[in-house]
Amino acid sequence: MNNISCPKCRWKPSANDKWQCSCGHVWNTFSTFGECPACAKKWLYTKCHTLLACGKWSPHIEWYNDLDEALSAQLEELNIQTAAHNQPIIEIHEQR
Ligand SMILES: [Zn+2]
Ligand SMILES: [Zn+2]
Repeated sequence: MNNISCPKCRWKPSANDKWQCSCGHVWNTFSTFGECPACAKKWLYTKCHTLLACGKWSPHIEWYNDLDEALSAQLEELNIQTAAHNQPIIEIHEQR
């Protein structure tokens, strides 16, 4: 995982490192910007590795060393999601 490290101890997680959600799902939290793919819970804080590193909680966004790039990618993703949610469910046809 390039450009991602613990803001407190600089531990760098690898793609094989996993986090567990309160719902029990296990995944790499940096692949989804901290959102659990199973229950859609958004983790604003991410815990460092308890055994290999400091084990402290830090804001998820602070783990990205290249913050601008991470933010723009996240904003892009949010825009895509917003656009998807704004799709009309019922099409209204005007009667003339
Ligand atoms: Zn979950
Ligand atoms: Zn750490």
